[in-house]
Amino acid sequence: MTAPRGPDDLLVSEIFSAIQGEAALVGTRQVFLRLQGCNIRCAYCDQPEALERRAGPCRIERTPGRRDWSVVPSPLPIVEAVEAVTALWHALPHHSVSLTGGEPLMQAERLTVLLPALAAAGIPVMVETNGTLPRVLERLAEYVGHVSMDLKLPSVDGTRTDPAVQRRFLRVSLAAGLDTWVKIVLGPTTDRDELEAAVDMVAAEAGGSAGPPPVVYLQPVTPFGRVTAGPDPETVLALHETALRRYPSVRVVPQTHKAIGQL
Ligand code: SF4
Repeated sequence: MTAPRGPDDLLVSEIFSAIQGEAALVGTRQVFLRLQGCNIRCAYCDQPEALERRAGPCRIERTPGRRDWSVVPSPLPIVEAVEAVTALWHALPHHSVSLTGGEPLMQAERLTVLLPALAAAGIPVMVETNGTLPRVLERLAEYVGHVSMDLKLPSVDGTRTDPAVQRRFLRVSLAAGLDTWVKIVLGPTTDRDELEAAVDMVAAEAGGSAGPPPVVYLQPVTPFGRVTAGPDPETVLALHETALRRYPSVRVVPQTHKAIGQL
């Protein structure tokens, strides 16, 4: 029987199984639960259809990797979202579910229901987040295993993200003992001072934390939207050097899912 749909349900964009193409879990198989809505607008965002908090069609993959979509209305009852994730999870070994967006932490109230349900099903959760909602992470931390946190550089993202808020977010994640890493997107006109300040912040927070220091992943931008070019090879080398001189745990990893033609 179909559960009733209502305003308290989850705004979902899509649910599917794919190869993680970014940062620490690159190459692992994950169930992606993409939520609708984002509180910022990055110049290179490759999910423009997931930015607005609005009802609409949502697609759900039925068999992992087959792209045999069912299209259903969103908002989606949380129980149906959990069922869709669980079905993919059991059909193939997956590392975890990637809660992504948009900015998934925007739907904080719904997540207080969704995340315990996923935990009860034995499904570990990774949150892919822009790192701007520290209070929400604090509230939900007990249900989160991994945090992939973006640090935004205005010269690349074109956003006005508050560095103090991002710092609080990282502090909350580390203090909660979550497996945390930081992703910084590099563009052709990356401001070196901004990169240095971001890396210094991570170094300072890592120094004050009892857990393992978070790795910083520098991700050369994949051209999309208003961004038409990535940084050239010399720029990537120079920016990597800049970051390494301030913090030893910095790696360069591009978006591999796009290189191999995946979602
Ligand atoms: S935070 Fe992510 S979803 Fe939001 S605009 Fe930036 S890239 Fe897009």
